[in-house]
Amino acid sequence: MSAFPKYRGVAIPAIPAIPGATNSQNSTNSQGGRSQNPSLAPEPDTGSHAPETATADDRADLLEAACQGLPLDVVDLLAALDPDERTDAKAGRIEGTILKAFAVALVDRRDRGRGVVPASYIHRATCEHCGPVWYWHGGRIASCIWCENRLRGLPIPRPEAVVCGDCEHFVRTPHRRIGHCAAGQPEAIAGLWDACRRTCGRWLPAEHGHGGTP
Ligand code: SF4
Ligand SMILES: [Zn+2]
Repeated sequence: MSAFPKYRGVAIPAIPAIPGATNSQNSTNSQGGRSQNPSLAPEPDTGSHAPETATADDRADLLEAACQGLPLDVVDLLAALDPDERTDAKAGRIEGTILKAFAVALVDRRDRGRGVVPASYIHRATCEHCGPVWYWHGGRIASCIWCENRLRGLPIPRPEAVVCGDCEHFVRTPHRRIGHCAAGQPEAIAGLWDACRRTCGRWLPAEHGHGGTP
């Protein structure tokens, strides 16, 4: 039985705001991409917290194990924890499995902030607010983990081609089929044809905007 019941059977600590998230600054383009990080790789056995007699090396191993296989180091992991949690983590009072789950969630959130699809998001889901998104399960959902990107103006990689005429950033010209992109995406001099399908991480459903197919 754990000497530190505080972290047994409880939710992982809250993930902080997307670190360094800016509009596609860290991504090659607005289309986003898929994470190459091996977050699905077999994980080491980190199923226990450090015993009460743990040495400093044992506690460091617990933190290292949480970051193992992820593009994340212990400094970043600790920096993302609240002060109390950081103290507990350094003291070995947080179980390895909880630290690992937190580390994976942290990396996934960092990927999303860059417009990159986390490696475990392999299904197509439909969010009522965001439209089609990559997700860890399929089906329709009232709100999704990409909603944060939508609200912050960050790209959302799409699992399918989209149509400018259905996008809230599409501003129609007097020509009923042609418009311009209010999100600043590349377009021909004449503008965008509303029915053209394209891959665009800036597409958002037109329901609340000025776009939409007539
Ligand atoms: S954001 Fe993308 S999908 Fe929307 S109008 Fe601009 S180019 Fe088209
Ligand atoms: Zn959403």
